[in-house]
Amino acid sequence: MDIKEIFVSHRRFFNTEKTRSVAFRIKQLNALKELLKRHEDKIYEAIYQDLGRSAYNTYLSELSLIYQEINLYVRNIRRWSKRKRVWTNLANFPAKSYIIPEPLGVTLVIGAWNYPYQLSLLPALSSLAAGNTVILKPSELSPATSALMATLINQNFPKDYFTVVEGGVEKSTELLAQPFDKIFFTGSTAVGKIVYQAAAKHLTPVTLELGGKSPAFVFADCDLDMTAKRLVWAKFFNAGQTCVAPDYILVERPIEKRLLSAMKKEIIKYYDIEKVGENYTRIINDHHFDRLHSFIENDHLFCGGIVDKENRFISPTILQDISFDDRVMKEEIFGPILPVIAFSDLYEATYRVREGGKPLACYVYSKSDENIDNLLKTISFGGGAVNDSMVHLSNSRLPFGGVGHSGIGSYHGKAGFNTFTHYKSILRKALWFEPSLKYPPYTGLKTKLLRFLLG
Ligand code: NAD
Repeated sequence: MDIKEIFVSHRRFFNTEKTRSVAFRIKQLNALKELLKRHEDKIYEAIYQDLGRSAYNTYLSELSLIYQEINLYVRNIRRWSKRKRVWTNLANFPAKSYIIPEPLGVTLVIGAWNYPYQLSLLPALSSLAAGNTVILKPSELSPATSALMATLINQNFPKDYFTVVEGGVEKSTELLAQPFDKIFFTGSTAVGKIVYQAAAKHLTPVTLELGGKSPAFVFADCDLDMTAKRLVWAKFFNAGQTCVAPDYILVERPIEKRLLSAMKKEIIKYYDIEKVGENYTRIINDHHFDRLHSFIENDHLFCGGIVDKENRFISPTILQDISFDDRVMKEEIFGPILPVIAFSDLYEATYRVREGGKPLACYVYSKSDENIDNLLKTISFGGGAVNDSMVHLSNSRLPFGGVGHSGIGSYHGKAGFNTFTHYKSILRKALWFEPSLKYPPYTGLKTKLLRFLLG
């Protein structure tokens, strides 16, 4: 089937109204969970082929989040799908007012390669939970994962309800030409703009989960050892190929050297710094390997910098004495290279961060409420953590998404359900009373009464 035919078949399926049934949705979500559980070994193998990532880390960063999200939806969608009564204002008396959650229709999910299951299946299952049909296009840059996802989903779900379409730019472009009811895109800001433009042609609403440079602020009063440990974990997990990894560190100058040494100690403790080990991931492809390699300049190398092109391996690398004008600060790094900028003037540091656009995440390490609150107030960003990094995305009660150049909209938990739902507002009028105030003649007495009632 070509793309248009797939789209039309989804539209037809949606119009059968089968997806309106909450029981149907719950059955599909349970089927998805069972399918993934049954094929976990294949899933780990495919990720290993694409990224060299261990089964432990894939379970932690992808499958566990998918399972938890399915459990949450199965427990809650009946309640979330119910119409909700709200108060009616005096002007409309007597009436009832309520909001009816309804599915949007045929939805498109375009995924990224760095956590290929999580970034494709979390939005897809949120959309299914909200009663939509889903066409999913995983990233072509993680081919083994994409192929497995297509086999598993396409063989186990109705093909006009939940379909995986594999391919790159050409397939995305064809898909984007269809009049979807919702597009959910995860990827770079540059491609996000292309998606937004394509969606505008059909007035299709979008959620854009994009990237950017996420800073971590480290204040002199932080718990230094814990800060170093958590920063190293967050930055080098998946070899830095995480949208919410701390892209760079801004550290108060008096503790710069101590932080650098503490982070190096942590790196040596956890990673084999000369080859790809069980706890470390490969760079996704040669293009990204070369791009990242070019950031490593000996003048700034504090530790790491060991590379193996054949295995697309770059050891956890820290760059010191960096300023905002260095090349590594001009684009999102998205790899295991951590520039450290020392600052003396917080105002200047936050000013430079703000100049770079609103980041997807921001982290602050400090024991002072004043430092923390000031920073959270001053910088606009998608979401973040205090005295840790990345972990906010694993709490499904926190909507996850960017702002400005880092994205539009959010998902995870109830936010994911909302993202794929239209809330239809209804006011149902009683028939036993009709105020004469509504109708002419509009006398002085009526005006007074109206003002008395409505303020
Ligand atoms: P990308 O933008 O290159 O690709 C993402 C998807 O878009 C892929 O499926 C790809 O096939 C498709 N695509 C690429 N070019 C296209 C075009 N011209 N027209 C239509 N579709 C096109 O991003 P990527 O390299 O897969 O991922 C890395 C980026 O994604 C980073 O910037 C990262 O920060 C961001 N990201 C964001 C999140 C988030 O949740 N906010 C998560 C992961 C990654």
